[in-house]
Amino acid sequence: MRIIQAENAGFCFGVKRAMKLAFEAAADSAKPIYSLGPLIHNPQQVEHLNQRGVHVVSELDSVSSGDTLIIRSHGTSPEVQEAAKAKGLTVVDATCPFVVKAQKLAQRLAAEEYQVIVVGEGDHPEVIGIMGYAGNNAAVIEKASDVGNIPVKSRVGIIAQTTQSLSNFREVVGALLEKSDELKVFNTICDATSHRQESALDIAREVDLMIVIGGHNSANTSRLASLCLQSGVITHHIETVNELASSWLEGVTTVGVTAGASTPEWIIEDVINKLKISGGKNS
Ligand code: SF4
Repeated sequence: MRIIQAENAGFCFGVKRAMKLAFEAAADSAKPIYSLGPLIHNPQQVEHLNQRGVHVVSELDSVSSGDTLIIRSHGTSPEVQEAAKAKGLTVVDATCPFVVKAQKLAQRLAAEEYQVIVVGEGDHPEVIGIMGYAGNNAAVIEKASDVGNIPVKSRVGIIAQTTQSLSNFREVVGALLEKSDELKVFNTICDATSHRQESALDIAREVDLMIVIGGHNSANTSRLASLCLQSGVITHHIETVNELASSWLEGVTTVGVTAGASTPEWIIEDVINKLKISGGKNS
């Protein structure tokens, strides 16, 4: 059985950077440190961080003056950043630079009196953070058919949640084009997601079975699994090696492996090792 591992599997640049900052901050601190929300959508890595002294809190009230607080790669609103500083916390800002770019664009567009529209999911932490920079008239639109549900101003600045698909972004921009006199469009989609999806689909075409590794709560891993499945190959989304059933490998000559942006290398290695024990060879 051949094992083909996708090129862009596992941590993206922003998550790698957030992990490095968190581990460094934990090593430098004599006390436990805290992340505002889980640093990553992967329960095993959250537990690993917990054991290394990085604990998750859901609100600022759970930490005290002098504590260290990590802002995760999704970023947060300027109000939360200011409240953390006012509380006397040491803030380690692990906001991904691509998210910072979207936040700065939102702030600039609002200052130039454009109505900021963010194409994305309104309840996603990244979008909530960006909206904090986007001024009073800002709105979130998930899909083109929602454009009719909000008042659209004559001057509109559009940015995207970094994990949006380009096709959905295009559709929303097209719908707004009909409703506004002036549009400024910034493509703030991060390539990490599309590159990961492309390399997964490249190998999905060659294999009998795809294994997609990542938290069941990770939206990007679930999307990766559904894209592989839609391409016609048998696909299983597993969180850890314990979910990998030997019966899936019966009669399989080539197996493809990929992983979401929040899946740590050690979990991927566990799966590859079990595939090797089951007769697999890296290709
Ligand atoms: S997916 Fe892109 S924007 Fe999001 S954390 Fe990773 S590198 Fe940054």
